[in-house]
Amino acid sequence: MDENKCILLLEKHGIKPTSNRIVIAKSLAACENPVSMKELEDQIITIDKSNIFRTLTLFRDNHLVHTVEDGAGGTKYELCFSKSIETDEDEHMHFFCERCHKTFCLYDMPIPDLCIPLGYQMHSVNFMIKGLCPKCSKKKQ
Ligand SMILES: [Zn+2]
Ligand SMILES: [Zn+2]
Repeated sequence: MDENKCILLLEKHGIKPTSNRIVIAKSLAACENPVSMKELEDQIITIDKSNIFRTLTLFRDNHLVHTVEDGAGGTKYELCFSKSIETDEDEHMHFFCERCHKTFCLYDMPIPDLCIPLGYQMHSVNFMIKGLCPKCSKKKQ
């Protein structure tokens, strides 16, 4: 994603595009899969840890990133491609590889229809499939 696109994206989500925020949004956009704080830190050596964390929290509050619970008890972050800035409507399934610990977005898989019992109000749902990714399952054989 180029810089102008990043700025537009930030503004669309009501976030003031400071240079640090642009850098962080850009790195997130460059990631194919959801990344952990640690992975982001390793990518962005020019911005300190607490700043990255604060920015991610801000992004999340403004629905610019989703947080994904990974299969190992950690949190991963991904840019949200929802058209609405109010909701996370691009929710999709995730796959956690138990061997390489990568989390993958499965955009093409339909989300199952959920019939939750009367009286419960659903705000978000977390679909996580665990197993081996194509690369790792090949290695096993
Ligand atoms: Zn794997
Ligand atoms: Zn995803």
